[in-house]
Amino acid sequence: MDKSVLDEILRQVSKPVRYMGNEYNMVEKDPSKVLIRFAFAFPDVYEVGMSHLGMKILYHLMNKREDTYCERVFAPWVDMEQKMREKRLPLFALETKDPIAMFDFVGFTLQYEMCYTNVINMLDLAGIPLRWWEREEHHPFVIAGGPCAYNIEPLADFFDLVVMGDGEEVINELLDVYRQWKMQGGRRQDFLMAAAGIPGVYVPRFYDVEYNPDGTVCSIKPNREGISPIIRKRVVRDLDKAYYPETMIVPYMDIVHDRIMLEVFRGCTRGCRFCQAGIIYRPVRERSVPRLMELAEKLISNTGYEELSLSSLSTSDYSDLEKLVKQLMKRFASQKVSFSLPSLRLDSFSRELIEEMIKVRKAGLTFAPEAGTQRLRDVINKGVTENDLLNSARQAFELGWDTVKLYFMIGLPTETREDLKGIAELAKKVKQCYFDATLGQRAHRLRITISVASFVPKPFTPFQWVAQDTIEDLNDKIDFLKDKLRIKSVEFDWHDPRLSFLEAVFARGDRRLGKVLLKAWEMGCKFDGWAELFKYDTWLKAFEETGIDPEFYANRVRNKEEVFPWSHIDVGVTPSFLWREYQKALKGELTPDCRVRCWGCGITRLGGLCQ
Ligand code: SF4
Repeated sequence: MDKSVLDEILRQVSKPVRYMGNEYNMVEKDPSKVLIRFAFAFPDVYEVGMSHLGMKILYHLMNKREDTYCERVFAPWVDMEQKMREKRLPLFALETKDPIAMFDFVGFTLQYEMCYTNVINMLDLAGIPLRWWEREEHHPFVIAGGPCAYNIEPLADFFDLVVMGDGEEVINELLDVYRQWKMQGGRRQDFLMAAAGIPGVYVPRFYDVEYNPDGTVCSIKPNREGISPIIRKRVVRDLDKAYYPETMIVPYMDIVHDRIMLEVFRGCTRGCRFCQAGIIYRPVRERSVPRLMELAEKLISNTGYEELSLSSLSTSDYSDLEKLVKQLMKRFASQKVSFSLPSLRLDSFSRELIEEMIKVRKAGLTFAPEAGTQRLRDVINKGVTENDLLNSARQAFELGWDTVKLYFMIGLPTETREDLKGIAELAKKVKQCYFDATLGQRAHRLRITISVASFVPKPFTPFQWVAQDTIEDLNDKIDFLKDKLRIKSVEFDWHDPRLSFLEAVFARGDRRLGKVLLKAWEMGCKFDGWAELFKYDTWLKAFEETGIDPEFYANRVRNKEEVFPWSHIDVGVTPSFLWREYQKALKGELTPDCRVRCWGCGITRLGGLCQ
């Protein structure tokens, strides 16, 4: 690449640091001395991608290999893209500034459905043919992982292969197979056949999808010998023994989570019925306190960060949390390191724990009751009560917090107006908790934010069979809440239901949606998750021009027997368990935490890790 052109462009775009690399702890290697070049691609801007834990783990893990150089690439913001296209500058990796089209792999992590057009845009900017059948022998293999990879079908045209499950469990095997293939000089197809033999690797082109006359999927079957009909996700069994980086790149600009991320455990046993992460990351695997202390020591000293986040899906469920926090505080308080928990459950909010943590710094406090009434919280198996919320809020106010954020969803199965009214009632009760707190202990001002998102039914959840509310219904519910939430000191914000609608389409979509994605991108859609760039009308035109009805995917109830576009993927938890949970939801029956007793979800088929 002509670096003078890049320098010139960087003087003309916003936040040039996004594209400069050379951060503290960036890995530097001589590309001519490695066999495999891997571009780890994040289909959003630098500050979002750099906050992603999976990238931090895999970047350093791959770079431990002498034969591999893993570099990073993010979606350039629109001003940068425009300049790159004007100057014919192809998409490049931050480390060497080499075009990613010359790499062996371009590996995308897919965190969110609304980044799909960015994947296409990045491939185009790189000069890599968009669809797998257009690529030739010299092109990189375009691969995917991350939560959305579990239903990759809407993107099946664009990816050569997909990794299901914990990336650190699979990536070395994949690179070993590639190394052997490259040294032997085989054809592209030979590598894909060999890769498909690795458990957890899915090569979409090796499967044919047939459809019923009503448009539902009839079957998904391998189209050649030696290809497994089912792809089972891979699981790291022992997190203490699994690789975890002892250093992390320290960016020169603010990023979304600008701190050390210490993953305390993976998975979640709570079984909230709307939650895909709670199912696909099963079983729970914890790191031990000694291992976490060792990692904290190294990460703090290797990065200089003064903030460490105890990361997981539900950190307050960690078995030894009090012990861990006390040890961390004791060891690092003199260095003024602060600790934060990204997610708190209302029923395990401990005053001692919070008191311990605010000795250094007071972070913002957010709770997620998800639904406004106990009835609906039972339907979604949230398992927390109003008392849990109010006790937690009272304690927070007594400890001096002045800002509390409460997350809810609207459009949940069985929801009624009473449930929506319940959201406003809860807001009022939380406000009262502030006034109940002793004068002198509580803060001088109060701000409660009620944040509402529209429910999106996701694959691999008990609600994978349900219809999403229509956009009209959701807007109506938002208007209702706007009215009910006219309360002093209470702010109301909500996510755009049109975005949730598209998310629902692609979350449960099939291969036919590939042409919609391509059309929408051709018509200018990208960064769809960014409100200022979201072009809903363009999306509707893309559906119209490709003859695809989005409501078929978002607003349709499925039969128990329906074959899903993801039915050939085995995440460990069985469809029969998910269906039982769906039926229990309709009756408002709870399934308690599976740390208490086993409910037979099926994950033990992957090795009985939670026993
Ligand atoms: S096997 Fe049992 S304990 Fe393990 S996740 Fe499933 S239900 Fe829970």
